[in-house]
Amino acid sequence: MKPPPFEYVAAADLDEALAALADTSLETRPLAGGQSLVPMLNFRLAVPERLVDLNRVEELARVEEKGDGGLRLGAMTRQRQLEHDPLIARRVPLLAEAAPFIAHPQIRSRGTVGGSVAHADPAAELPAVLLTLGARVHIARRSRDGESGARMERTLDLGDFFLGPFFSALEPDELLTAIDVPAAAVGEGSAFDEVARRRGDYALVGVAARLRLGSGGICREAAISLVNGGSTPSLMVEAAEALVGAEPTPDAIAGAAAVCAETAEPAADMHGSEAYRRHLIRVLTGRVVSRAAERAPA
Ligand code: FAD
Repeated sequence: MKPPPFEYVAAADLDEALAALADTSLETRPLAGGQSLVPMLNFRLAVPERLVDLNRVEELARVEEKGDGGLRLGAMTRQRQLEHDPLIARRVPLLAEAAPFIAHPQIRSRGTVGGSVAHADPAAELPAVLLTLGARVHIARRSRDGESGARMERTLDLGDFFLGPFFSALEPDELLTAIDVPAAAVGEGSAFDEVARRRGDYALVGVAARLRLGSGGICREAAISLVNGGSTPSLMVEAAEALVGAEPTPDAIAGAAAVCAETAEPAADMHGSEAYRRHLIRVLTGRVVSRAAERAPA
C-alpha cells in the first residue's frame, strides 16, 4: 500500500521543527530515520496529516562529551554510529556491543537513536540498553501561550518515559532532542546478548546487564533490562536487587536469572511460547550477567 497524502515540512533547524509541531491545526509527526514510521504509513497504521522531517536539523545529530565523562547523543544520531564511533565504544561500551543486533546495516544507517526511543517498542534493543545505562531524555516544545514562541525544555529519567507499548510521555507537540548516557563508572562491567530466529530479525528475547563491583568483588549496583520481556521497556528491579550486596558467584547469578525469568511478562506468539521465552530469559540473563561481572575491573 501507499501512504495517504500528507503535508511535508523539511525543518531547517530545531525552532522550525518545534513550530510545525506546535501548530495543532494538523496532526503532525516527526520523521527521523523513517524505518518504523514509513512502514506504518504504508500500512496505514499511522495517518498523520503532516510530517516534520528532522534530517536537516544539524543540532539534533551531534554527539557531545559531557563534563562528567558521559555522552549526550542527539536524537538524530544514527544507530550505525553507535557501533562505529570509537568515543562511544570507549565511554559506553554497552551501546557499541548492542547496536549490531538492531536490524540490518542499511536500517541502522538511517534509523536513529531518538526514533527508536520515541517509538517505545518493547522489542527494540535501544530502549532496554539505555534503561540499563540509566539514561535521561531531553524533550523540547514551544510554549503553549500561542504568542512568545519560547522554547520549553524538560528532562526525564528514561524509566519514567516509557508508559506502555509504543506509548511514551511525549506530548504531540514535543520533540525528543537528546539522550544523556552516563559513562561507565570505575568497577563497572556490562554485556548484551539476544536470541533471534535469524540475524537481523527482531529478538525473541534480549538481555542487557550492568554491574558495578566494589572492594572484595561485592556487587554495589546492578541493572538488568529485557528486550521483548514484557509489553513496556522496563528495568527488572527484583532480579538486579538479588545481585546487590554479594559477590556475583555462579549461584548468585543463577538465582538472579531465575528471578528475572519469573518476574518477566513475555508474550507468546507464532515464534515462541511464553514458557520458551522465559527459558531464554533465564539462560540469557545468566550468560549476560556473568559476562558483565567478568568485565568489571577488580
Ligand atoms: P522513525 O521511523 O522516523 O520514527 C519512529 C516514531 O518515532 C514515529 O512515530 C516518529 O514520529 C517518532 N519520532 C522519531 N524521532 C522523534 C523525535 N526526535 N522526537 C519525537 N518523536 C520522534 N528496531 C530494533 O530495535 N530492532 C530490530 O531488530 C529492528 N528490525 C527492523 C527490521 C526492519 C525490516 C525495519 C524496517 C525496521 C527495524 N527496526 C528494528 C526499527 C528501526 O530500528 C527503526 O530505526 C527505529 O525503530 C525507529 O527509528 P527511526 O529513526 O527510523 O524513526
